[in-house]
Amino acid sequence: MIRILGTIFVALLGLAFGSFLNVCLSRWPDGESIVQPRSHCRNCTHTLAWWENVPLVSWLALRGRCRNCRTWIGWRYPLVELALAALWAVSAWQSLGPALSSDSLPVYYALARAVGSFIFYWLLIALAALDAEHLWLPDWLTLPGILLGYIFFNLQSLLDERPLEVGMSTFGYVAMNLIGILAAAGLILLIRWVYWLIRRREGVGLGDAKLMAMLAAWVGLPGALLAFGLAVVLGAGVALVLLAIPSRTANSNSWALKKLPLGTFLCVGGVVSGLWGERMIAAYLQWSGLWLD
Ligand SMILES: [Zn+2]
Repeated sequence: MIRILGTIFVALLGLAFGSFLNVCLSRWPDGESIVQPRSHCRNCTHTLAWWENVPLVSWLALRGRCRNCRTWIGWRYPLVELALAALWAVSAWQSLGPALSSDSLPVYYALARAVGSFIFYWLLIALAALDAEHLWLPDWLTLPGILLGYIFFNLQSLLDERPLEVGMSTFGYVAMNLIGILAAAGLILLIRWVYWLIRRREGVGLGDAKLMAMLAAWVGLPGALLAFGLAVVLGAGVALVLLAIPSRTANSNSWALKKLPLGTFLCVGGVVSGLWGERMIAAYLQWSGLWLD
């Protein structure tokens, strides 16, 4: 019962944080303050009444349009709120379960685990939306994201006694994670360099390298590689769909120059990796015979 109530509470909290994130996502690109003025329509500056500002419900009630000028508000608002609420609820459910069923597990352990997941998914949704809308992965999100991920990942691994499991000293384990972060960023830099040698123009941004480092910090190098693989498959799929739409191919070769937001696909891969990464990697290793347990 506590587990269900806790999860519902966290889901509502996720909706509220998602709503605030939407304000940030609209105002950051224009360099506006996220505190002042109060929530308003981006088109007619109509200030929202409290009931026009309820996460998800208001968007549905207003059918995604401003009450005053009928401007389309966009899909991003309900999507961000729903995604954050769902991911936070899953995180709460996963961390509350073991904490409530065992007496040996301290409460702060479950709390640290949940808070870590909350920050991770909040960052991923913020970066996915910014890259999709503006091809922009700000350093002031990715760089603190790398540091926080490194702290939370090591903290959780040490509480799980992971270094002991793999027969490493604490220092060796922490150092190995740092090398993993550098290797993840290095992979993107290598691809960026090869792309430049062949095409003589920028294909992959430096922001993507920092995002990849951030993924490795939160889910480890194998998890980050899994996210990268998923991102490439997803990106190729979206590119094929865009190619198949006739109107895009009709006007010269503009579609070929259109940049796809690799960062958004990396974030989606990161979510999958965060939710099911460990199980997917273990299954793969077992299937390929690399890991005999
Ligand atoms: Zn309006």
